Amino acid sequence: MSNPSLLILPGDGIGPEVMAEVRKIIDWFGAKRGVVFDVSEDLVGGAAYDKHGTPLHDDTMAKAQEVDAVLLGAVGGPKYDVLDFSVKPERGLLRLRKEMDLYSNLRPAQCFDALADFSSLKKDVVAGLDIMIVRELTSGVYFGEPRGIIEEGNERVGINTQRYTESEIERAARSAFELAMKRGKKLCSMEKANVMESGILWREVVTEVGKDYPEVELSHMYADAGAMQLTRWPKQFDVIVTDNLFGDLLSDLAAMLTGSLGMLPSASLGAPMANGRPKALYEPVHGSAPDIAGQGKANPCACILSFAMALRYSFDLGDEATRLEKAVEKVLADGVRTADLLNEEGRTPASTSEMGDAVVAALEASL
Ligand code: NAD
Repeated sequence: MSNPSLLILPGDGIGPEVMAEVRKIIDWFGAKRGVVFDVSEDLVGGAAYDKHGTPLHDDTMAKAQEVDAVLLGAVGGPKYDVLDFSVKPERGLLRLRKEMDLYSNLRPAQCFDALADFSSLKKDVVAGLDIMIVRELTSGVYFGEPRGIIEEGNERVGINTQRYTESEIERAARSAFELAMKRGKKLCSMEKANVMESGILWREVVTEVGKDYPEVELSHMYADAGAMQLTRWPKQFDVIVTDNLFGDLLSDLAAMLTGSLGMLPSASLGAPMANGRPKALYEPVHGSAPDIAGQGKANPCACILSFAMALRYSFDLGDEATRLEKAVEKVLADGVRTADLLNEEGRTPASTSEMGDAVVAALEASL
């Protein structure tokens, strides 16, 4: 049987720097755990534009459709701000998400004990926090028609449409229930059924799908109340499922409960392929951080933890994913810190590669 395949797209700015550390981790798993991938690498974003005049070449798109999982660094940078909208680096990422039909965006908000002081909330509110937000990613108000800016009378009107079909809600809900089954078996669905018809339908469909998952304790919350509860006592949640717009806001809010952008992974999943694995794109939440690019300052943990998500959700290697997450946790507990994780004056931060090396050493110590 051939090895599972992984397409690596480092992208721009700090993308290639953090991805170089993930490469060390991938190599370690191959050498020490017999988890071997067929790894290929290609360009995306500004790097692809520089070479091909497009932020995602058709050949790269075709490769992404064939592999078992795609791991992306980050795209964008000031150099590309002047480009036409159609070829901006972000269009490459959006094309990947759209053509792979990645409808379910998973963003964990997990607070490592060693970083609990980084949250703007009290330590006991966030220490040990481990929740997952599932955001519907391909529909809703960001895509609904009609949209645009039109003239009406003597003024302009901006229009966007919140639109969800039953099947779009159903597939997002199902992926959230499946996830809840693998975690704490609690799912909270968030919408605004009090003021939006799409919210009423959302609640009905999620409730219906829930009948297939009797073990999962399902609750519903208005999204605004959800935002309050997330800041008041986030540990009441296990998995949250919500639409594209509310998910955009709530996942950013939940992410910041945990402190630093440099620690946040994500996964975007689509329908199962012929081999049963979902179409999948894994990427850190952060961007290309042009302010620190090329200086060895970037924290590679978000990208490393995105690879851990790939191990768990694409390759059914939950134990190995946990091993990697525990290695990151150990490194933090040992006090290794990149600059973004330091709030004390006078301490020398670890560089990007020192952080990656520390994670590899912690993996080694786990054997
Ligand atoms: P950003 O996430 O790149 O940076 C925000 C701040 O967080 C910066 O101060 C940066 O130095 C810091 N930061 C981010 N990641 C870090 C890491 N791993 N380690 C240490 N510090 C880190 O967001 P931005 O500055 O708004 O955007 C910069 C560029 O990235 C823009 O071109 C934007 O369009 C693009 N972007 C891309 C993605 C993506 O590829 N998914 C996401 C967001 C922004």
